[in-house]
Amino acid sequence: MIIRNVRILGAEPADIRVENGAIAEIGPGLAGGDTLDGAGAIALPGLVDLHTHLREPGREDAETVQTGTQSAARGGYTAVHAMANTSPVADTAGVVEQVWRLGREFAHCDVHPVGAVTVGLEGRQLAELGAMADSAARVRVFSDDGKCVDDAVLMRRALEYVKAFDGVVAQHAQEPRLTAGAQMNEGVISGRLGLTGWPAVAEEAIIARDCLLAAHVGSRLHICHVSTAGSVEIIRWAKSKGWNITAEVTPHHLLLTDDLVEESPVGAYNPIYKVNPPLRTRADVEALRAALADGTIDIVATDHAPHPVEDKETEWSAAAMGMVGLETALSVVQEAMVETGLLDWAGVAQRMSVVPARIGRLGGQGQPLEVGAPANITLYDPSVRTKVDPSAFASKSRNTPYEGMTLPGRVVATFLRGRPTVLEGKLV
Ligand SMILES: [Zn+2]
Repeated sequence: MIIRNVRILGAEPADIRVENGAIAEIGPGLAGGDTLDGAGAIALPGLVDLHTHLREPGREDAETVQTGTQSAARGGYTAVHAMANTSPVADTAGVVEQVWRLGREFAHCDVHPVGAVTVGLEGRQLAELGAMADSAARVRVFSDDGKCVDDAVLMRRALEYVKAFDGVVAQHAQEPRLTAGAQMNEGVISGRLGLTGWPAVAEEAIIARDCLLAAHVGSRLHICHVSTAGSVEIIRWAKSKGWNITAEVTPHHLLLTDDLVEESPVGAYNPIYKVNPPLRTRADVEALRAALADGTIDIVATDHAPHPVEDKETEWSAAAMGMVGLETALSVVQEAMVETGLLDWAGVAQRMSVVPARIGRLGGQGQPLEVGAPANITLYDPSVRTKVDPSAFASKSRNTPYEGMTLPGRVVATFLRGRPTVLEGKLV
């Protein structure tokens, strides 16, 4: 098959010949075979998400491996890491293999289970990290995401343990005592609205501690969903020391701010904006964008967190935290980073495919679009602007903060090892 007239990383149009799941030839005017007109779309290496909640097993009313990966494919993803806070928790070889097998059977992209750091995400006892690493799922990313590994001794042990198999601990940085009952970013607006604040220092204190711990034991640390300007400063300092630390930011923290809780097109106190970590201030957003541009923050990860309507459309204090994100991620990154001149398409490919695959130690993903590479390809048309319509999502859940917003760009097609999972914007 030949994909015609695509601009690889935004360069001049060329054709890509795909054969046996790999890229066989790249050049102008390739001859022969079935053709697909790329019509000037940008070609990116298939996107890789380091932080997805697929909800299966246990909350199939919110999402399943099948619907979550359909959502991923529509967003241009060819691989996702499935977070461990399922029911049962993915804290044994048995559960991670179950998720891995569901992925092999039903998924529209590669599924790599994340293993829990502690048994039951309870923060008391290390989970079977080695057994999960040795399992068929070959787990390399470990996280209690949703909860913070707040015990410093356990965190140290986890960091030491994963070194044996080149794993990484991905920390949800949230000091629990400082955030007891927290409802939104602590600041002027939380004060005015009378909602308990989630202070920036609760994130920054854990990040600082964990950077020091990772340096002390010489291990790899990944920091989930960085949300404050202060966190950026700490990570910048830690990286300047040469420590082996990586960090992610979500699309929503690159675009949205906490004033939406007070005033938005969908009214005040709308739980669609309730997320953990919370939406922060304009100054934080500016710092996060600059950090993603200069490499202090390595990657974009969605933190796709589907919730059924009844868990979101309730009063603010009772509503679940989280937003779906797979199907809007690339558009939001275009809006926040490309349209602002902070990143070009090669930079987007690094941060949404190449580097997340490297952090997760995924061999066949995040490869540059070159002859011989697996044909994991996302075709993206950045020239259109469309209104976000959650009813068109493949995800089982609709909790998007972008409903009705006009965002740039559209995923035209996604190829997983040469096989289309999305064509003309629709699932295959
Ligand atoms: Zn988290």
